[in-house]
Amino acid sequence: MNHTIEGKVIVITGASSGMGEAAAKHLAQLGAAIVLGARRSDKIDKLAREIQASGGKALAVATDVTKRDQVKKLVDAAVEKFGRVDVLLNNAGIMPLSPMDRLKVDEWDKMIDVNIKGVLNGIAAALPHMKEQKSGHIINTASVAGHKIFGGSVVYSATKFAVRALSEGLRMEVKPYNIRTTIVSPGAVKTELLEHISEADVQQANQDYVGAVGLSADSFARVVAFVISQPEDMDINEIIFRPTSQEL
Ligand code: NDP
Repeated sequence: MNHTIEGKVIVITGASSGMGEAAAKHLAQLGAAIVLGARRSDKIDKLAREIQASGGKALAVATDVTKRDQVKKLVDAAVEKFGRVDVLLNNAGIMPLSPMDRLKVDEWDKMIDVNIKGVLNGIAAALPHMKEQKSGHIINTASVAGHKIFGGSVVYSATKFAVRALSEGLRMEVKPYNIRTTIVSPGAVKTELLEHISEADVQQANQDYVGAVGLSADSFARVVAFVISQPEDMDINEIIFRPTSQEL
């Protein structure tokens, strides 16, 4: 248990795999009540049962972050079940990398919908509760690719640059409500993210790289726990972390 995390109500999008799942497990162990959102309800239901079986508190709500009403239901469910929402971790994201000249325009649209609109839907769902509570913490997962652009990352990077821009603007605007905002920008982490790259050569190159240098998803969980566990008068605005061997 951690006295600054224990009892907090934490909503996590993209909690069915990778970094969201790792954060959910870690924060539950530290005593938080976790509300899990993702489309694969079998995965989040199972995770909720596992957390409950080990004495923790969890609720799973099937959620597609591109659907504003579903994200609202996710956050409202947290408030209904646990009385408040202390933290929203806007973590759901997709990364179908490809060079622009391959014109994977449907994938561009999907990245914009999940990575940008999904985060905005989360903010819209949580802000009214946090304003009323006069406290809260919105954590948005960006990326090193939200600082740097590399071959094939153009649209993905654009979505993560956008996440950083809107997080920074949000940070300034929510001061009157005592709401904290944090951007977490990971480098290479081994998760399911690369499995959805549709271009075989791009997928292979990225699998080779992340397979060689990538951190485990626990790295993200530890960063998120650190950020949440700071005293309320301290607002960690951004953390970038990378594998030690990652150059980019
Ligand atoms: P995973 O693919 O393992 O996890 C992605 C999560 O997002 C899944 O839980 C997935 O759940 C969820 N998701 C995708 N689309 C939607 C949607 N429409 N609605 C709700 N949930 C959705 O990858 P990671 O853990 O790596 O990714 C987590 C975040 O970290 C992403 O924002 C990613 O961009 C970012 N990131 C990852 C890095 C890495 O190297 N792995 C580096 C930097 C940033 P489901 O499919 O069940 O809906």
